[in-house]
Amino acid sequence: MTSPVTNTTTKLDPGLYIVATPIGNLGDLSPRAANILAAADVIAVEDSRVTAGLLRHIGVKRPMQPYHDHNAEHVRPALVARMGVEAVALVSDAGTPLISDPGYKLVRDARAAGHAVVTIPGPCAAIAALTLAGLPTDRFLFCGFLPPKEKARADAIAEIAGIRATLVFYESGPRLAATLAALAVGLGDREAAVTREITKRFEEAVTGTLSTLAARYAEGGPKGEIVVVVAPPGEAPPPSAEDADTALAEALTRLPASKAAGEVAKRFGLDRKALYARAMAMKAPE
Ligand code: SAM
Repeated sequence: MTSPVTNTTTKLDPGLYIVATPIGNLGDLSPRAANILAAADVIAVEDSRVTAGLLRHIGVKRPMQPYHDHNAEHVRPALVARMGVEAVALVSDAGTPLISDPGYKLVRDARAAGHAVVTIPGPCAAIAALTLAGLPTDRFLFCGFLPPKEKARADAIAEIAGIRATLVFYESGPRLAATLAALAVGLGDREAAVTREITKRFEEAVTGTLSTLAARYAEGGPKGEIVVVVAPPGEAPPPSAEDADTALAEALTRLPASKAAGEVAKRFGLDRKALYARAMAMKAPE
């Protein structure tokens, strides 16, 4: 069904309009978003084929200017100049622009040039996933995509392990199992949810601990787009000596003994000196 564009004739004031678009279900495009797209003088798009599909859905045709990671530096000055006299809309392929998508430098430069910046909020996979996961939402950290390489990923996870907030990660099917396993090692075996294909036909949210979820997906990642949501560190019982040893052994594969001891001490609330001594013993030849 086509969303009605209610007032295409309204002339927009010049400036930058940040327009959120659906993450799957086209019915999620708001009437205001449709009207802004219909009235914009130009739409900055990630992929013109994707946005052309959305515009077809609402029955409008507007000029598009590709704006993505590979050309942004080059086309941004001209786009910013146009905002002084025209309405420039920014969309990404799906969801809210700027959220793991290009756009923040466009907003920064638009503001610096004194142009109006208007937001048309709407779908965002991170927020939609939080509403499905059944985990605390009073405090959360959006972590975007973790680095694909093992060491960089483990370092990134270690950096956020002590944060008392629900964590939200974007992920793809093929990397899901490795990411869940790395999260289980780096964060401890917390409650989590794997949300997938949100607002689409095969939408699902699978909950469990990180290790059970890692085991579930070990045979191969599911298809489609994924958001992983992980519970904050709980008021967990003190870790067993075995847990601390496992974490220390893993940290020693990435870090020198003093740093490994520091990392594990912070994560488990244990004594750093004792852990350093244990790390040295673990490193010593038998
Ligand atoms: N700007 C978008 C937003 O507001 O959510 C995110 C863009 S980011 C490049 C794409 C990632 O968002 C996907 O790899 C996936 O992790 C997540 N994502 C987007 N749509 C999704 C959906 N329908 N279901 C689950 N995750 C989705």
